[in-house]
Amino acid sequence: METNDDEQPQSKAQQQNISYQENLELCSCGSQESVMFYCQDQACPFYKKQKIYCIECMVPEKHDHRPVILAKKAKNVADEWSKLIIEVSMLRNTCNQWMKNNEPLVEFLDIHITMPDQKLLLKMMQVEELCIHLDQFYQQFVVENSAKGDIMKLEQLKPDLLAFKQRLQPLQFLKNIGPAIFWKVYSEVIRQVNLRCT
Ligand SMILES: [Zn+2]
Ligand SMILES: [Zn+2]
Repeated sequence: METNDDEQPQSKAQQQNISYQENLELCSCGSQESVMFYCQDQACPFYKKQKIYCIECMVPEKHDHRPVILAKKAKNVADEWSKLIIEVSMLRNTCNQWMKNNEPLVEFLDIHITMPDQKLLLKMMQVEELCIHLDQFYQQFVVENSAKGDIMKLEQLKPDLLAFKQRLQPLQFLKNIGPAIFWKVYSEVIRQVNLRCT
């Protein structure tokens, strides 16, 4: 009978299934208690020194403020990522749906657009790319850290979240894709094509 269970490397699935409590590190105060709270109070004297802390550090001499529970904070950050993913997926669906009927026309008119970054087909591709990149990033970095409740790692991903949001910004107008936007993008081109055809 094998007894070396402890030495066997854990599979990825097992690692991800470990609940956040088992993964929590010990507090820096030396109490041997696990960290449970997150300090986001900039006025707190321990804000920079001790971002995450244990129940024994929740005293007036240290963190004299309402505690933010780590697991909840981690969930909120993860939720922010999920919200963005849903938003981008919905945008992609809207675009795909609309392109089903309009792609040949868009392709034809895009040829006549002189500014490359104004081509509608390019914008549609940017939505598609954003959706794929965001999903890859989420699977690779956010899922595991959020399952572990690793708020420090999740906080480090904040600039990436912001960067993805910035990529979405100039594509937001596609949410309302329809005749009005179509006309706005192509009216000039249609006029030119018209002139050439008459
Ligand atoms: Zn402590
Ligand atoms: Zn504090």
